Amino acid sequence: MSAGIRAARFIPPRGTPAWWSRHWLRMVAVISVLVLFAGTHYPKLSIGTPGDGPDKILHFLAFATVTVLLRISGITGGAASTLVLVGGLAILDEVTQEIPGLGRSFDPLDLVADFGGIIVALAWIAALGPDRSGPDWFRTGQDRRIASLVLLLASPVNWLHLAIATSLGAMLGGVFLGVAGRNPIVGPVTMVVVGAAAGGIAGLVACLESGRRHATDRMDREQRCLNCLEPNGCPRCETCGGGYRGPSDRHIPSRRIAMVATLWTIGSAMLLFGGYLLLMTRSSDRSWMGTAVRRYDALGLNFEMMVDATLLGLVGAFVVHRSRRRMSRIAARYGIECLRCGHDLQGLPEQPEPRCPECGEAFVADSGVPDVAARRESEEHGER
Ligand SMILES: [Zn+2]
Ligand SMILES: [Zn+2]
Repeated sequence: MSAGIRAARFIPPRGTPAWWSRHWLRMVAVISVLVLFAGTHYPKLSIGTPGDGPDKILHFLAFATVTVLLRISGITGGAASTLVLVGGLAILDEVTQEIPGLGRSFDPLDLVADFGGIIVALAWIAALGPDRSGPDWFRTGQDRRIASLVLLLASPVNWLHLAIATSLGAMLGGVFLGVAGRNPIVGPVTMVVVGAAAGGIAGLVACLESGRRHATDRMDREQRCLNCLEPNGCPRCETCGGGYRGPSDRHIPSRRIAMVATLWTIGSAMLLFGGYLLLMTRSSDRSWMGTAVRRYDALGLNFEMMVDATLLGLVGAFVVHRSRRRMSRIAARYGIECLRCGHDLQGLPEQPEPRCPECGEAFVADSGVPDVAARRESEEHGER
């Protein structure tokens, strides 16, 4: 079984690209924790003016970043142990701010922001993690995607590129929201921080995605082992016993992927908006709900924006998770029905190059025996 790199807790042999990748990730993770502690203990630091302090959002972002790095570098084990470890860090971090002379203080709302960041980070890692329920070709596609990212992160030059793209994105986003986002409610410092965070993430994701394509090409050209990323892993890797697997000729049409993702996004957005409207209309009630809403409002805009970020982050992760699960079930129907339009493909006359009679999408006919287990699984779920 050469399952996914993360899923199988595969420990790469020393000196392989997968080992270097983990090495750099661990180093960056440790540095991020040190930077975090330095930042939260810097004497008498206060960011922004009263009423325009982005410190809750900064807490949220900092702890989300540290959680992602500690978890994907394998320093912490599963999601639960990451929550305990980073949660412990957050509490320690807040308690030690009471040290006399630092001029900082213990703030329970900071802790709430820290845990918001930790939980959103863990939700996204769970949503983007390998999904083991689809057919073989689908799982191989996921393993290849993770392997190309591991290969990308094995080179320090690529880390430099990622850092530059993130900083550029942060600068552009910060300047843009700081100038264009002027408004009487949210202060300029907070706007710059929000813009920088959004721009930084956009820059990082864009750079990761383009870098991943190059890494995939390199992986295929040199037939690298999907586990340790050493070249010449075909048919079997001599370093770790894994092996190279090429791209599949099967895929889910992008139109279908976009459709599923859009439906989930619209559904969740409507739910979120509905809940928000309900709370808005109740805010002047005398009921417990109205009291709760007013008490929440009294915590300040800075805190509310952090709660909004947590909510949006969790809903986003949920949408990605549900869409991906749906994808693996659609993938399991390959050859049984058309993955593009859902037309039944069973009992069609044999053709040299079979196509869906409804939409013309090409498919590879199975040798008469569809993936029985996957098929049963998808029928149990009542999926079409
Ligand atoms: Zn290997
Ligand atoms: Zn079709």
